[in-house]
Amino acid sequence: MAGAPADPPAAPAPAASLAELEARIVACRACPRLVAWREEVARVKRAAFADWTYWGRPVPGFGDPQARVLVLGLAPAAHGANRTGRVFTGDRSGDWLYASLHRTGFANQPTSVSVDDGLRLRDMWIAAAVRCAPPANKPTPDERDRCLPFAREELALLPNVRVIVCLGAFAWDAALRILGPVRPKPRFAHGAEVEVAGRTLLGCYHVSQQNTFTGVLTEEMTDAVFARARAIARRSASGRPAPCAAGPGGCA
Ligand code: SF4
Repeated sequence: MAGAPADPPAAPAPAASLAELEARIVACRACPRLVAWREEVARVKRAAFADWTYWGRPVPGFGDPQARVLVLGLAPAAHGANRTGRVFTGDRSGDWLYASLHRTGFANQPTSVSVDDGLRLRDMWIAAAVRCAPPANKPTPDERDRCLPFAREELALLPNVRVIVCLGAFAWDAALRILGPVRPKPRFAHGAEVEVAGRTLLGCYHVSQQNTFTGVLTEEMTDAVFARARAIARRSASGRPAPCAAGPGGCA
């Protein structure tokens, strides 16, 4: 049975580099419930991946250290990133996400199957709000709060980030906690935009099968969000504001 949570993972002295932060993240065992789950999944495996040695650890961020656009997801998938060790790699959500990133020029290839598949990102960094795979894809509020310092430190080490694309309401809320507090709290919506602490948060429905198989999120909708992220990043870099393209509730 899982024991009491350990101390929060964020050390008093922030990491001096992304490499140092990554080393801290992958060694973290601060959430007993998530450590037990990620390691059990890695031990039991899914039959289709029986010949894989699962990663079974926290999943660090991935991408271009000079990125102007950060994508924030929820947490690693049990048999996706928890198996492969790279965020959104090895599952249907990743298939959807990276195909869109390739169409919109952020990724050099449309597929993401393993850490050695040659995938490279340009002008983008991808991370999860919670770094360990949670049961039923649902971290507890305590687990979220324990892990968020990693995302906060990561953002501090990505000096060019101007846009944060939040995949789903959980990531939207996490980003507001990282950058905020913001009162009143802006509501998540697909296409919503809000300026917080010098960055633009951009809402996008999560790329989960629940959304993509049902048509709630289409390829066109996904591509439009990343095209918008690029436009905001370019215009903020040039010092000119990007005109709001959001629907109702956007551009708060
Ligand atoms: S979820 Fe985050 S804080 Fe909790 S064990 Fe994993 S890496 Fe550490």
